[in-house]
Amino acid sequence: MSDNETVLSNEHTPLFANESGPIKEVHAFWLAGMSCDGCSIAAVGAKNPSVEQLIHQQIPGLPKIILHHPVLAVEAGHRFMEPYYKAVKGELGATYVVLYEGSVADEQIAKDTGGYFSAMGMDDLGDGKWRPYPTADMLDDLAPGAAAVIAVGTCASWGGVPAAVGNVTGSMGVMDFLGEDYRSALGLPVVNIPGCSPIGDNITETITAVLMFLAGVGPLPEFDELGRPAWMFNETVHRGCPRAGFYEEGVFAEEYGKPECLVELGCWGPVVQCNIARRGALGHNGGCMNVGGICIGCTMPGFPDAFAPFYKAPPGKFISGTASRMVGSFIRPLRKISQRKGNMTNRWLKTEHIPSGWGHVEAPGVVMKTIHYFYKKIQSSGTPYHPSGSNQQRKLQAKSRSAMSDAIQRSGKRAIEAEPVSSTAKELG
Ligand code: SF4
Repeated sequence: MSDNETVLSNEHTPLFANESGPIKEVHAFWLAGMSCDGCSIAAVGAKNPSVEQLIHQQIPGLPKIILHHPVLAVEAGHRFMEPYYKAVKGELGATYVVLYEGSVADEQIAKDTGGYFSAMGMDDLGDGKWRPYPTADMLDDLAPGAAAVIAVGTCASWGGVPAAVGNVTGSMGVMDFLGEDYRSALGLPVVNIPGCSPIGDNITETITAVLMFLAGVGPLPEFDELGRPAWMFNETVHRGCPRAGFYEEGVFAEEYGKPECLVELGCWGPVVQCNIARRGALGHNGGCMNVGGICIGCTMPGFPDAFAPFYKAPPGKFISGTASRMVGSFIRPLRKISQRKGNMTNRWLKTEHIPSGWGHVEAPGVVMKTIHYFYKKIQSSGTPYHPSGSNQQRKLQAKSRSAMSDAIQRSGKRAIEAEPVSSTAKELG
């Protein structure tokens, strides 16, 4: 087996997957533009599914993925770059997708001064001349033949930090670079997985969903009008935030380290589309608000400028925060009353004594008991259920006892009626 075959075939990986579908094997070419490599770190931390599961074909129906990643590859130099060159020349002889991390710089700006911004490998200029191969040019060369182009992270999706105000490199997202008419060889526009960095599971899950579709074993995943996986990005952070209950009750943290809602410290969660609070950062752990941080809108196309300066309350907070405070000032005391009731056993209510060795708990007084009585009345109105009404309980129990004895009698009767039939059957037998 030649060196190249070792790189391209990956024959030693175990086969657990169902091999149905037209595409059996997909090369995944990772390219890095104006990037900090954070998206690579996020991807290798993914757990559901993990990169290992993808490359070892442990997901039924998923084609075998041969990953070419400059940081993860065992090969180096020309041996590592060769599959890229083959794909550029149309000589790979296999399906491939492009995964682009970081924003795409305007390499013409760099070329004008004789340099480059982001490059990988060498571009053969003929006559024995070579130059560093800008990843922007490589993206341009690989995109038309790719089954899919996936922008990994906010920089690749929208431009991100390198494209912020003062953008001297002319950085932009993959979508801007390839244009709105771009379609992959299999007809897909650019898929965007934003986040700075994205949740690792968002990266691997989207790649899996797209490849399942391309392999003909899954439906086309739903994307929104900006090419984001809709099932991950159609809800705001706020809707899945563990602190949303505090927001609803108008209780806001005044400093970090407190458990309440962080909107007054500059959280943009109510408007930002992201699933970090629900999914966590890594293996369902961590993730911005879950660990005490605010949302600074890193998944959004306007990031970072639209959300800067960070750590300053959004202007809309004045209206929504005041409304929450007003509603919360009514809701909180009412909830306290119901909570108090939920914290009592029937026995404690009867004995008016809570025998806790952990501290003194006041038994409900006359006023509280009266409130609870009417509360319970409203709660059980329109139903026969009334747990604290013993007469009602007795009636319900009597009713259920009579229903049971009726059922027993009916089944006894059926058994007697069935007897002659079975005796006849025995005789015939
Ligand atoms: Fe919403 Fe942010 Fe408050 Fe969470 S911390 S409830 S996302 S405003």
